[in-house]
Amino acid sequence: MKIVFCASEGVPFSKTGGLADVVGALPQALAANGHEVQVILPRYKATKPAKVHPNGRSVTLALSGSFRYANVQDAGESGGVRTYLVDLPQYFDREGLYTVNGKDHPDNHLRFAAFSLACIEFLKRSGTAPDILHCHDWQSALLPVYLKSLYRGDDFYSKTGVVFTIHNIGYQGLFPPSILPEISVDSSLYTMEGLEFWGKVNLLKGGLVYSDYITTVSRKYAEEIQTAEFGYGLEGILAKRADRLQGILNGVDYDVWSPANDKHIAAKYGPQDLAGKQACKKALLQAMGAASPVLDRPVIGIVSRFAAQKGFDLIAGIAEQLMAMDLYIVALGTGEPQFEELFRTMAAKYPDKFLVRVGFDVALSHQIEAGSDMFLMPSRYEPCGLNQIYSLKYGTVPVVRATGGLDDTIEPFGGKTGTGFKFSDYTPEALLGAIEQAVACYRQPKAWRQVMINGMKKDFSWSNSAKQYIKVYQAARKTKSELKAASAASNA
Ligand code: ADP
Repeated sequence: MKIVFCASEGVPFSKTGGLADVVGALPQALAANGHEVQVILPRYKATKPAKVHPNGRSVTLALSGSFRYANVQDAGESGGVRTYLVDLPQYFDREGLYTVNGKDHPDNHLRFAAFSLACIEFLKRSGTAPDILHCHDWQSALLPVYLKSLYRGDDFYSKTGVVFTIHNIGYQGLFPPSILPEISVDSSLYTMEGLEFWGKVNLLKGGLVYSDYITTVSRKYAEEIQTAEFGYGLEGILAKRADRLQGILNGVDYDVWSPANDKHIAAKYGPQDLAGKQACKKALLQAMGAASPVLDRPVIGIVSRFAAQKGFDLIAGIAEQLMAMDLYIVALGTGEPQFEELFRTMAAKYPDKFLVRVGFDVALSHQIEAGSDMFLMPSRYEPCGLNQIYSLKYGTVPVVRATGGLDDTIEPFGGKTGTGFKFSDYTPEALLGAIEQAVACYRQPKAWRQVMINGMKKDFSWSNSAKQYIKVYQAARKTKSELKAASAASNA
């Protein structure tokens, strides 16, 4: 099959979160199964200069009643996957992928409408229609909308199956209805069955309504988003399309995220030889400015977007109790000002135990994985979560809330089996209870080694999940050919 990913971020070209890791790794796993896979991303200011190959193309986009020109650059092939970058400096050559100084770019609707149209036009000009277009989150949700409206009668895409993946339903791309003419969407789509959502245009909803199949990034999250607690208002449409919705767990690229290969860490290690982990712990504490690091004190790592979703109000509720315990917190993150403030305040108050870096730092994120003893993810909701899965491979024991992918990937440690510590109630007390349990286990070296090794032996590589995606792609293609055959028969 020819499979094309259209997404707003992807490693190594751009990244704010887990979506980028998925878009960086899943296409390669699909290519390894013999498929032709391409990725199309915007070219941002932060996108490192890639060697541009000659077979790029320029495309014309009709938006807001005028024309825009985008240059779609060929950024070369890696792991059997060719990447194209949509170069539209007016929209993408600026600070921040989606936000700047904590605020959304005011023209995000135009930026991602232009990106979506550029993908569609570029593929048309390339000559061979994809068998599958795989879109991700609200930023590329307009592709299925355009294919069902502007490009409805276009034979080129008549056999292309469209798969849409929800990486986080909390971000929906909500805009006032006045944007519709600006993004070339006909007002006839602004209905309850279409893009309308409580008086606003909901782009994510467009992806859910107009795609052939919908996936999300864990089995549990696929169930959760069909409920009012987790669906953020879209539970109804998802329940209606439940026969087209599937949860497929994200995998891990172990070439990048494994202590045996990691190029960012102080010493390599594996389950047979854990000495390197102590070296990583020492290096991490030193790098974070701990005065005379105490190596037998547990280090609890955090690497996260600082967003309410991630459970920081729970951490705020027990921060003082944590500092009364014999442990380090090492945190890296950036995001909402109130949480940056929380971490800065705690770091200023406890400079030897609460070690914080506010910012986005890929090398440090790897060093925290390797140098911590435990990894904390007390999320209110978590579609999949990648850091807890990375942590397993690094022997860094996850302490997580039992939700979404966290629940699917971490088994509670029970003395012999299990890989981490889980709590269910979204309360500071429940979180503290899980941390106390983990710290008590850390004080029993034999049990601790067992839980570490159990996690390190787990395999969450992409190959298994890639096979599940291929089945969804095949189903989407089948739907499309059946539809085409039915429409040919009715026209005959
Ligand atoms: P989400 O996509 O909700 O942010 P995930 O756990 O799925 O959460 O993925 C987060 C990814 O982003 C991980 O690869 C993590 O290491 C990375 N990440 C998050 N915050 C930072 C940061 N401040 N610096 C470097 N990497 C980060």
